[in-house]
Amino acid sequence: MVNDPRTIFPKVDPPQQIQAEPGLDIKLEPLADIGLDSYQGHNRLAGRKALITGGDSGIGAAVAIAYAREGADVAISYLPEEQPDADRVIAAIEEAGRTAFAYPGDLKDADYCRELVEKSVAALGGLDILVNNASRQIWAEGLTEISDEQFDLTMRTNLHGSFRVTKAALAHLKPGASIIFTSSIQAYEPSPTLLDYAMTKAAMNNLSKGLAAELTPKGIRVNSVAPGPIWTPLQPSHGQPQEKVAGFGQQAPLGRAGHPVELAGAYVFLASDEASYVSGETLGATGGSPTP
Ligand code: NAD
Ligand code: MG
Repeated sequence: MVNDPRTIFPKVDPPQQIQAEPGLDIKLEPLADIGLDSYQGHNRLAGRKALITGGDSGIGAAVAIAYAREGADVAISYLPEEQPDADRVIAAIEEAGRTAFAYPGDLKDADYCRELVEKSVAALGGLDILVNNASRQIWAEGLTEISDEQFDLTMRTNLHGSFRVTKAALAHLKPGASIIFTSSIQAYEPSPTLLDYAMTKAAMNNLSKGLAAELTPKGIRVNSVAPGPIWTPLQPSHGQPQEKVAGFGQQAPLGRAGHPVELAGAYVFLASDEASYVSGETLGATGGSPTP
C-alpha cells in the first residue's frame, strides 16, 4: 500500500486558542497524534534505557511511546503542572510492558537537572539514550519586545537545561549510547517573532556537532533532529501569535502541520543500531522545507 504524505495524517486546521505556558496536549483542539493508536514498534531498541526531557507531550511524548514500543524502558521529565499529560504517556509505556519512570521538575534548576539523571539511572538500571527535547518558545514582536527576563528564561530552559542534563548523563553513558538534541527549522530560517528561541535551536545543532567530535571516538553517537511545524501544545501556549495558530503549518510544502508521531521514526533511527555510522548529523523532518 502506498500512502500520500499530504493526506496520510489528518490535516490540522486549528481554530484560534490559547493556553497558559507550558500548555497541555489533552486540551489541544484538534488533538494531535502522539502515536497512541498509530505507532507500531519493531523491537529496534530492545532492552535500552532512555531519558526524554519534556516527554509528557508533543514530540517528546511521541518519542517516549515509540521507544517503549521498540522495547526500551523510558524515563520522562516535565513540569509539575503537566502531570495530566504525563499520566497518559506513563500508561502507554507500561501498557507496552516496559518500565516507566517519571520525575517532574524545572530544568532551569541546576540541582533538578542532576537529580533527574541520577534518579532515572537508578530507576532504569542505567542509561543508553538521552533525548534533550524540552524547550520553551514564547513569541514576541521583535528584539526590543523580548524583555531581559524572558530572554533569560528561554536561555536557562533551552540551553542551560540541555547542557546540565547532558553533562550529568555523560558519567553513565557507555559505548553504544546515543544522545539526541532537538533543533528546529528555526535554526536555519528564524522567524522575527522567535529570535531568542531560534538562537537556542541553532545552538542545539552546534552543540551536537561539537559533542559528536568529542564522543564519537569513544563510541557514543550524538545527533539532532530538526522538526518543521508540528502541532503540539508549544504553539497555542504563547508559542505563536493567534493569527499563526489558526492555519498552523499549512505553508509547509506538504501543505499541513506535522503530527508528533511523524517525528518518532527519526528519533528511533538515531537511537538504534540502524544509525551506527551516523553521528554529528542533523536529521530534518520539516514537511519538505529545505535545510542546509
Ligand atoms: P511541547 O510543549 O509538547 O514540549 C515541550 C516540553 O518542554 C514541555 O512538555 C515541557 O515539559 C518542557 N519544558 C518547557 N519548559 C520547561 C522547564 N522549565 N522545565 C522542564 N521542562 C520544561 O512541545 P513540542 O513542540 O513537542 O516541543 C518539543 C521540542 O520540539 C522542543 O525542543 C521544540 O523546540 C522542538 N520543536 C518543536 C516544533 C513544533 O513545531 N512543535 C518545531 C521545531 C522544534
Ligand atoms: Mg508538555
